[in-house]
This record gives sequence, C-alpha cells and structure tokens, in this order.
Amino acid sequence: MSAITDQSVLELSEAERARILAKTARFAPPEAHTADGRKDLVGLSRAELAAALAEMGAEPFRTKQVWHWIYHQGATEFSRMSSIARPMQEKLAEHFVIGRPTASTVQTSTDETRKWLFKFRDGQEAETVYIPDKHEDRGAVCISSQVGCTLSCRFCHTGTQALVRNLGAAEIVGQFMAARDSYGEWPSPKGETPRLLSTIVLMGMGEPLYNYENVAKAMTIVMDNEGIALSRRRITLSTSGVVPMMDRAGSELGVNLAVSLHAVRDDLRDEIVPLNRKYPIREVIAACRRYPAASNARRITFEYVMLKGVNDSEAEAHELVRLIAGIPAKVNLIPFNPWPGSPYETSTNAAIDRFSRIVMDAGFSSPVRAPRGRDILAACGQLRTESRRERASEA
Ligand code: SF4
Repeated sequence: MSAITDQSVLELSEAERARILAKTARFAPPEAHTADGRKDLVGLSRAELAAALAEMGAEPFRTKQVWHWIYHQGATEFSRMSSIARPMQEKLAEHFVIGRPTASTVQTSTDETRKWLFKFRDGQEAETVYIPDKHEDRGAVCISSQVGCTLSCRFCHTGTQALVRNLGAAEIVGQFMAARDSYGEWPSPKGETPRLLSTIVLMGMGEPLYNYENVAKAMTIVMDNEGIALSRRRITLSTSGVVPMMDRAGSELGVNLAVSLHAVRDDLRDEIVPLNRKYPIREVIAACRRYPAASNARRITFEYVMLKGVNDSEAEAHELVRLIAGIPAKVNLIPFNPWPGSPYETSTNAAIDRFSRIVMDAGFSSPVRAPRGRDILAACGQLRTESRRERASEA
C-alpha cells in the first residue's frame, strides 16, 4: 500500500473516530449507583477511586487498601476488609457498594462450558461464557461488551437483537469477577500461578470497539498488577473491523487482536459482515499490518466461520493466504454454530479439512475450533438475550 493511501486511511479514521464516539454516547450505560444512592466502586479507575474516597474523607492510603480488597481478594463486603478498622468499614458501607451483576440463569453444558445470563442494575441482561480447557486447569472467559449489537452479522444470533445499550466498565469487569466468584478463584493468583479463569476474550455480545471507552477502562482495571493482574497477553479483543478504533486499541491497550474476517471478497463480506461496507477488507487488513502488538509471539487471530457452499472453497482459502501474507497471524476456523432460524449450514468436515490444509501449507497455524457449549447455545455466535431498548425510536 502506498504512503498516500495509508495517509487517506488515517484521515478517514479521525473523522470516523469522532462519529463512533458520538454514537457511543447515545447508548451510554446508566450511572453505577444503587437505588439508595450508594456508588459502585467496581469499574472506577484508580484515580476515580481515590477521588471518591477522598470526597468521603478517607486518607489517600485507603485507595491502595480498598483496591487490593476489591480486585485481589474479591471482597464484596466492606466488613471483610480486615486491614481497615471497623468505623471506617462502616463509613465505606454507608457511601459505597462493591457490585456484581446478578445471575438470572446459570447453565453448564455437558462439555463443562458454563453460561451465565447476567442482569444489571437497570434490569438489562447480557451473557457471559466460561470455556474450560479440557486438558489443563485453565480456561477462557468470553465477555460481552454491549447488550445486543448494531452490526447484524448474518451468521450471528446476537446480531438479530438490536443494540439496547453499551455496558459500563463496572458491568464488563463485573462479568469476569462474578465468573470468578462462581469458581471461588480468589484471591487473584499471582504471577505465573495457574488460573482456572486464565484468559479473557472480548467476543461475547456486542462490538467492543463500538464501546471502546468502557472496554478500555475495564481492561485497564483487569490488568492492574495490584488487583486481578491479568497480563495483556491473556486478553484478546475481537472486532468485526472498526478500523479507526483498532489503531487506538493497539496503541493504548496493546492486547491481542482477533478479527472476524469470514470472507475474502468484499461482495460476500458486505453480506456476511455488513460493517464491511464501511471498512472494506483492504482497510481492515491494512489496520492489522499496523497493529502494534502483533509479533510472531503474539499473532493476530483471523476468525473465519465455515459456511457450507458460501465461503469454504479452496480458491477462497488461497485468497485468504494471499491477503494475510506477511502478517504474524493464525486463522481460527469455526464450524458454523446453528441457532433457531439461522440462514446457513455448517461446512462439511472434508471442506474444513481442505481449507485448513491450504492455510497451514502456507505457514499459518489453522486450528479448527471445536464447538463448545452448543447444547446451551453458548457457542460462538449463539448468544442472545431478551433485552430490548425501551424507546424504540432511538434503537
Ligand atoms: S458477530 Fe459480533 S459484531 Fe457481529 S453481530 Fe454478532 S456480536 Fe455483533
């Protein structure tokens, strides 16, 4: 790509970034307060926590203490904070809460995948999934970033649910913390100590880069070394290709990137991932080439859902290899997970094998993702809730 074209992509990004941020504000989450006016401390940055405690009259050193109890110890009651004297505990409880979403339902699949339907303070709901590794004590927590989604990817059940609102930082971190409550994984394991809930994938409901500020704040909290302390290498942000925000996520967060590619021709991707009409394949791939956190040790993942007779030919596998040549990348092939009313079928095993072999022969790792949690509609692209936006005119 020429330097001139690169520049035009970046200029487009500036204008688009402003538009995306304005749109984000329309779907802002409610204030994180309880009905009796107490403020939720979960989801505040360190600076915000310090300011909230100072306003209540607490000394500056309390910030570190409270942070440790919330994010390292997993305390949800101030009375558990044994390094803080009783009168101060009581004062904290008068002003604040340490929130968690409540689980409306919890389902565990025959393959041990667990799915929560979490309800937030305003009654809206989103789903979170834990996918344990079958062979080792570790696993991925798939977190939602929005209630519903604006993007309507055709293979995705969530895409049939209109965007209700963005999730706040407290609600995003809260999903991970509530999942850890469920497995009793507190205090946060230190350093390389094995963790059951060892990685976060932002691949649940919603497009995380359409809710960037809240996602970024939540991930900054999760990465803080004096709390949950999950390294940026263990966090993967999945996007359908919101090009201007990919640059920002790369430079500010440096987490791993996954891109929902799913097609190698613009005419087909326009249909499967409609966002392609705004950011076509050429621009998405260019943003991947610029992505600062990509290296051989931290490859970009290209997600490719295998749809029978739609995108699974050998010619398309060769074109995929040509498109991503030179990018430190791996290609996740995802056999399509059907949902009620879905318009596609899963590719045959033979087609998936052929596709995978072509990608592998070109030097890219190309694992076929084993479907997990299909029996509880927890697999990739199957999440959906009944939440609706009240004022339909704004949807
Ligand atoms: S795949 Fe992701 S971005 Fe596309 S509709 Fe589903 S949740 Fe939204």
